[in-house]
Amino acid sequence: MSTQYEVAVIGLGAMGSAAVAHLAARGVKVIGIEAAFPAHALSSSHGDSRLIRLGYFEDPSYVPLLQRAYANWRSMEHRLREQILTITGVLQIGRPDDKIVKGTLASAELHGLASEVLDRGMMLRRFPAFGLDVDDIAVLDPEGGFLRPEAAIFGYLKLAAADGAVLHFGEKVTAIEAGDSSVEIVTDTARYRVGKVVVATGPWIAELVPQLRGLAVPIRQVVAWYQPRDGFVTALGRMPAFIRDEGDAGSFFGFPVIGPDGVKIGKHAHFREEIDPDRPNPPVNTADLALLDDFIARRLPAAAGLRVNAITCRYTMLPSEDFLIDLLPSDPRIVVASPCSGHGFKFTSVVGEILADLALYGETPLPISAFSFAAMESFVKGSASA
Ligand SMILES: Cc1cc2nc3c(=O)[nH]c(=O)nc-3n(C[C@H](O)[C@H](O)[C@H](O)COP(=O)(O)OP(=O)(O)OC[C@H]3O[C@@H](n4cnc5c(N)ncnc54)[C@H](O)[C@@H]3O)c2cc1C
Repeated sequence: MSTQYEVAVIGLGAMGSAAVAHLAARGVKVIGIEAAFPAHALSSSHGDSRLIRLGYFEDPSYVPLLQRAYANWRSMEHRLREQILTITGVLQIGRPDDKIVKGTLASAELHGLASEVLDRGMMLRRFPAFGLDVDDIAVLDPEGGFLRPEAAIFGYLKLAAADGAVLHFGEKVTAIEAGDSSVEIVTDTARYRVGKVVVATGPWIAELVPQLRGLAVPIRQVVAWYQPRDGFVTALGRMPAFIRDEGDAGSFFGFPVIGPDGVKIGKHAHFREEIDPDRPNPPVNTADLALLDDFIARRLPAAAGLRVNAITCRYTMLPSEDFLIDLLPSDPRIVVASPCSGHGFKFTSVVGEILADLALYGETPLPISAFSFAAMESFVKGSASA
């Protein structure tokens, strides 16, 4: 016999935990089902810190969603009575023509956001932790900072449970069977009859949404922590979080000292190595460490002390490196969420709201048309014919 719910949320990582909390807060009878446990090491949502910034260099059209995300983080923190978001400013460094510098300025200008342009001398005086080239400039986003991913996920699950959500951990969904009057969720231990489904399974998304095979591709990401040489200039409150554009060599990101392991850095998309989500991530190797050690020595010498930790994580890359958030075209009772491409965490608080809207009403007033299956297909067609 199957148990009945209005909505099932599959996967309780970042997006699923926010969705289940938003649904429960609206009084919906909802079940969240998680194969493992929150923020586990094979998911995309562990590792102490995630950047958040408002002047979005990727595309200014993300800014309204970010404004909503900031508001939702603040109201979530208020209800939880816990700090999840810390403002440090985010320094976006590169040459004047680099995408990160130009894109951040374009976003700030279009949306009237506060921002400050710093030349090399100004940067060295204010933020002496960084190693700079003579033609480097930076755009400081004063609204930028970092989120604590594990605390955010546990926070959302706590709120969801307080609002009556049923949460199951260590239970893997093996199939979604769409019937005429309801949808059956089949797990390794039970069956549930539900009205709507949200699939938010991160790197495993293509297992339950076969339309995404070959399109939502899990890749390996590595981050490392270093004990600072200069604990003063790398301290929280003194050093901002940052992104550094290295042109053809990609971009790197990092944080001031947040916890006992020191300064954390990573390279966006690392070596773009595709992985099988069902196998453990290949361990950190000498090439991974050489890349990060070289960066910290050149670009953040004040932090280039002993490397004390290095871990792997997973990005789920989509072809355009944007997000997919849409109803499944073949069955609009199923909502699909793949907002990663290495930059999705900051949107978690607004994605939860969007997923609740889509599950309940089949639409949302928030601007997500760029994240549809149709937009993804047209990008893929455009790239194939280019
Ligand atoms: C190292 C690193 C750094 C990043 N930095 C940033 C950053 O600075 N800023 C930013 O905005 N974003 C960043 N991101 C991206 C961001 O973290 C991701 O977009 C986000 O974590 C994705 O969350 P998710 O809920 O989609 O996936 P996950 O958190 O991986 O959750 C998916 C969950 O689904 C579960 N699951 C899978 N299959 C099943 C099944 N069949 N049944 C039940 N449960 C299932 C899994 O166990 C997992 O818990 C970074 C990512 C990484 C890896």
